Amino acid sequence: AVCTDRNSHVLSLPFLWKHDQLAARVESRPLKLRKNDYDLLVIGGGSGGLACSKEGEVFTDETECISLCLTGTKWGLGGTCVNVGCIPKKLMHQAALLGTAVKDAKMYGWQIPDTVSHDWPTMAEAVHNHVKSLNWGHRLLSLFNLLVSVMFQLVNSFNKGHSESLLSLFNIVIATGGRPKYPTNIPGAAEHGITSDDIFWLKKSPGKTLVVGASYVALECAGFLKGIGLDTTVMVRSIALRGFDQQMAGLVTDYMEAHGTRFAWKSVPNRVDKLSSGALQVTWTDTQTGSEHKDTFDSVLWAVGRAPETKALGLDKLGVQLNKETGKIVVGPDESTSVPNIYAFGDIGEGRPELTPTAIKAGKLLARRLAGQSTELMNYDNVPTTVFTPLEYSCVGLSEEEAEKRHGKDGIEIYHAFYKPLEFTVAERDASQCYIKVVCEQGGTGKILGLHFTGPNAGEVAQGFAVGFQCGATYSHLIQTVGIHPTCAEEVVKVHITKRSG
Ligand code: NDP
Repeated sequence: AVCTDRNSHVLSLPFLWKHDQLAARVESRPLKLRKNDYDLLVIGGGSGGLACSKEGEVFTDETECISLCLTGTKWGLGGTCVNVGCIPKKLMHQAALLGTAVKDAKMYGWQIPDTVSHDWPTMAEAVHNHVKSLNWGHRLLSLFNLLVSVMFQLVNSFNKGHSESLLSLFNIVIATGGRPKYPTNIPGAAEHGITSDDIFWLKKSPGKTLVVGASYVALECAGFLKGIGLDTTVMVRSIALRGFDQQMAGLVTDYMEAHGTRFAWKSVPNRVDKLSSGALQVTWTDTQTGSEHKDTFDSVLWAVGRAPETKALGLDKLGVQLNKETGKIVVGPDESTSVPNIYAFGDIGEGRPELTPTAIKAGKLLARRLAGQSTELMNYDNVPTTVFTPLEYSCVGLSEEEAEKRHGKDGIEIYHAFYKPLEFTVAERDASQCYIKVVCEQGGTGKILGLHFTGPNAGEVAQGFAVGFQCGATYSHLIQTVGIHPTCAEEVVKVHITKRSG
């Protein structure tokens, strides 16, 4: 593999040779041949890539599997999740939750002034410090193994200039993830807008913000921005949280609207202009009425999806098959690509969930298989997930819509309940959107097909149920389980009212 071009943040792979063909090729190119040969080259130092290469290293003694990880250069180690995703997002979400807790606290007797305000730079600095510590932690953990020491050598050599190195490898694993997209057809979008790669690292508050998009990234960002007191609007061109249970998605956005987030429903942006005042003027069309609208914002955040990092890899020259529409790599159940000895997993894999824990697990399993230690494949079914909106939403398994599509309306039974978290009572908080839905097969023991929960700490609630789900839990198991009182999770094991009953 020939590695070039530091600025593209990924490394080109114009050629690949089998281990024993390397020498011939070297003679024909004036490249410096590295002495090290590797069994595994992992391209990408995000959560998945690191997990894969570290797992490869675990087997070094027994199997002589030596791995090398080539990382991107934009943020150092950790990729999206650590630097511009899950971690800073969850911390800023926590900042917003604390704002609500401060209000609740007064009802619990805390003497707090009527007006409390939030300071973005303080939060940003604390979050940045934590992210940097994780980055450093990743390096420290890895310092003791060959993997990272070689990686440092490589990164250093790139830092010194555009050097090329030739490596001999048995297997290449691509885990380069993706980057947020900008819309291409909206004047001013890229020039004046920001994405999730920027929002978490702003040194000063983004101020009044328009968030375009209505999926995970959009709703989570809008949620914490409003939660820390900023004027926030979400522009939704079709539906919120596509692919999720739409009743649950409605509860999430209802809660946000009820707590002050504005929504421009069925609207598409046309252009963004920077006014002489520095404000950004956004023009958009309400597609239901056809009417055009304008408003000014301090920031416009594009959360319109993510594009895979494949272009700069030169995969077309190797014949690696990509999905033409998405640009992602077509992969098999064992993460293999159309070219032998090249594998891909994580966000870059076509049809794979764009989620850190699935990438980590898939990467570890792949390394074990490549090291000949296991044949276990990643199970991509029933991956639990949480949307960290102000009212959190967790789910595992099928949405009501998908269950109905697969099993028919009469083939499923839905147990559901609205509930009031105990902590909401004294604080006199509205619990209208706290809801549980368990989608089961109709008849028999009622195999659970999907479990959905909105409420405080939804991820903590759902993780344990996901284990049950993995074990094939049924409705009978659920109601045989003793609740932990008083919790929100116990409401799940109490659901007994069916939707069918009306
Ligand atoms: P998604 O691809 O999930 O959604 C894109 C959103 O942008 C949709 O609402 C889409 O609308 C809208 N959109 C796309 N193009 C335009 C446009 N030109 N104008 C207006 N709206 C547009 O992207 P995300 O960036 O939200 O998330 C990417 C992935 O990251 C997700 O798949 C998720 O797995 C992962 N993620 C996970 C998190 C977690 O685990 N908590 C948190 C954040 C991200 P439409 O539906 O009409 O196409």
